[in-house]
Formats: sequence, structure tokens, C-alpha cells
Amino acid sequence: MKHSEIPAPEKCLLCDNKSLTNHLTLKDYFLTQEEFSIYRCPSCGFMFTWPRPETEKLPDYYKSLEYISHSNKRSDFQSRLYQLVRNYTLKKKIKLIRRFTRGNQILDIGCATGEFLNQCKKQGYHTTGIEPDKNARESAIRNYGLSVKDTPHLSELPSSEFDVITMWHVLEHVEDFKQRMETVFRLLKPDGVAFVALPNPSSHDAKHYGKFWAAWDVPRHLSHFNRESMKLLSEKTGFEIQAILPMVFDSYYVSLLSEKYMRHSTCFIRAFYRGFISNFLAGTGKKEYSSLIYVLKKVQA
Ligand SMILES: [Zn+2]
Repeated sequence: MKHSEIPAPEKCLLCDNKSLTNHLTLKDYFLTQEEFSIYRCPSCGFMFTWPRPETEKLPDYYKSLEYISHSNKRSDFQSRLYQLVRNYTLKKKIKLIRRFTRGNQILDIGCATGEFLNQCKKQGYHTTGIEPDKNARESAIRNYGLSVKDTPHLSELPSSEFDVITMWHVLEHVEDFKQRMETVFRLLKPDGVAFVALPNPSSHDAKHYGKFWAAWDVPRHLSHFNRESMKLLSEKTGFEIQAILPMVFDSYYVSLLSEKYMRHSTCFIRAFYRGFISNFLAGTGKKEYSSLIYVLKKVQA
């Protein structure tokens, strides 16, 4: 079926509102070059990728060595830079967690090859990982001796078990995001805290690159949350937002990839400039950084 022949979605996947706007038509520039749309709900601000690939077909869109968050096999400059920044941000993440939480039971959902959990383990946390990708999972177990299971294992974990649950750029990939947040609610202790990092479609780099913005990443990213829709999702699933914090390196990485999609060349200077401008405008304006970390606590009855 041609993209133009695919029927529009019936309602907003977050608030059920029936009047939606077609926000963008774009391609999977990363892998398949297939065309998708981003639909936007004017009522709650939620955006989502359409059509959504069937569940069985989703893994096909991840089958590439270039997906470096799942693989450390590339060795070009871009990947080395990514890994260097990752090591720095890992430590920043743990510092952030310590600021908001006590207790040492941590669950990382979508832990990929386990670098973050390994850092947590070194810092004295008792770690549990969930990762759907078999290769990434096996790598985390083999390299760091971590306990990492496939996604269905989430339903087998005991309730009120964790002080901290993290999802670093994961929720945008999850098909049933409401159910996932309900699961996070169940697994957290009453005073537990969830850290949810997401790309921000309200950022300057998103607006500047338009359909070439790399963090649309269709169809791997199924949902696109802004502050407004994330607040609604939090409320619907028993959370309140305690803080919203920036991830300042993402603007550079996202700009680099976006430049590649837009101009078919990787111009580091141009990408660096755009990343810097994005952070500068966010810092001096409404804090709409390229990616945001939502710190969520359970609403106490
Ligand atoms: Zn809506």
C-alpha cells in the first residue's frame, strides 16, 4: 500500500481525541527510506508515528550495525565521540539519581549493552536490566556479569521492589506506553522515583531540521512526547513530575545525524554550531533542550 493510501488514525493514542492533524510526512532516513507520518493531537500535544509497524515487524527496523546504541562495533570518529560522551553522561546520570533518591535497588528498562548498569553496580547499586535485543542482552551479561532479561520478564518482577527505575530514550520505542508506565508504577516502591529521558520535539533543533530531525527516528520512535503530553501521561498513570532536566549533549549528536539526513554529508562544524545554538536558546528561554529527563514520583494517596 502506498503511503498516501493509508487511512489516518481514528483517535489520539493518549487522550482519545478524534480530531488529529498530520504534522509531518517523513522517511526512515536511517534504514529503510520508507515513508511515515507524524500525527499530532491539538488537545493534548501528543504526537505519534503513523502507520505503526505490526509488532512482529518492528525488530526488522533495528537490524543494522549502524544502530550504535545497541552495538559497539563501529569505529569511525562519530562512534568514538559518541562513546566518549556516553562515559561522561553515565556518571552525570548517577549523580542525578543520587540527588533525587535513596536506596540501592535499580531497574534499567532498555539497558542495551549494560554500560549504565555497570556504572551503577560499581557505585554499589543492586542492578536489574531489561533489554529486548538478544545480542545487546547477551553482551551485557557477558561483558559485565549483569542480570538482564527480555521484556516479558517485566511482568514477573515483584511489586514495590525498586527505589529507582530508569528508561533512557526507551519510552518513545514502546508500543503500549501507557501500560509500560503502569508497570513502572507497580514496580516502584511508594517513595521510588522514575527517570524517563525523551527526545523533545519542541526543541530548537527539532524545529530547525523539520522532517530531517534525527530524533523523529521513524518508525523506531513510535511516540513523540512534549512537556504537555508527558504531564498528561504521568497523571494518567499515577505519577507527578518532580523535575524536568536537560540532556545537553543530545543536541550535538542529533544535529550531526540530522545534517547527514538533510545534506547527505556529515559536517561536524555545522552540527556543532546547531547543537550549541539549540542549547543556548533553551538555556536562555523556555528550557526546551533537544532531550529532556522527566523525574517522576508516585502520587501518594
Ligand atoms: Zn491527545
